[in-house]
Amino acid sequence: MTNILSMIARLHVGEKIMMKKIFLCILMVLCGLLVFSLASSCCARTLSENEYLSLRKKMVDEQIEARGIKDKNVLEAMRKVERHRFVPKDICHLAYGDHPLPIGEGQTISQPYIVALMTEVIRPNRSMRVLEIGTGSGYQAAVLAELCDDVYTIEIIEKLGIQAQKILSELYKNVHVKIGDGYKGWPEAAPFDAIIVTCAPASVPQPLADQLKEEGKMVIPVGKAGVQHLVILTKTKGRLIAREILPVRFVPMVNSKGEKY
Ligand code: SAH
Repeated sequence: MTNILSMIARLHVGEKIMMKKIFLCILMVLCGLLVFSLASSCCARTLSENEYLSLRKKMVDEQIEARGIKDKNVLEAMRKVERHRFVPKDICHLAYGDHPLPIGEGQTISQPYIVALMTEVIRPNRSMRVLEIGTGSGYQAAVLAELCDDVYTIEIIEKLGIQAQKILSELYKNVHVKIGDGYKGWPEAAPFDAIIVTCAPASVPQPLADQLKEEGKMVIPVGKAGVQHLVILTKTKGRLIAREILPVRFVPMVNSKGEKY
């Protein structure tokens, strides 16, 4: 430090002015960088409702409609439901990205396209009573609530179920949340016109098959980690006719002890 000061003292007036200018320039660049990084981190976390709305429209155009989802009502519901309200606050600026997101307790909210696809394949309409297994954040249930008369949804992790119940009850009157093991379905509310399963068992749970109405559809990821397929099952004359649609990766369906089905 003293070396630098004595070096500065030996400089001519012109050189000192030049040094001052260089020093000021460096200071301004550093301040600029600081302001920019602060501003961008704040904006990333507190977008306005208008910004969220345009992100949501972009999500539907680029990730959902562009990939072939056609049902106008499903597209409308995906434009309407505020996905950023269903993810943890510190990552809500990422809510409209083309990927799943962590929601706590080691669980995830599905990629928006998968939510739209699973909703479209059950051919939702107003008169339907739908069961969802794996409430998670409550987002899929909210999309269903926009389209169907009654939505029943079961979550096995109490903390997630309580959180989802809170936000869903603020927004909808037609969603019923239960904390429990969805493998067993919801016999008191059965039969269902459609069942959407958002966690993966190794094979289709018999109680869910039994609780599906004739001509009803179930969409379910089946298989062990790494090799799951999204399957659509249609109940025809009491039997389930299966059609595989695509390979997927969902969290496993587990029982109350955390063991995989
Ligand atoms: N549909 C959710 C995503 C769910 S992730 C959403 O829109 O956010 C899958 C969820 O299934 C997890 O929350 C997990 O806890 C739950 N789950 C796993 N096994 C279950 C079971 N047997 N019954 C009910 N929920 C189960």
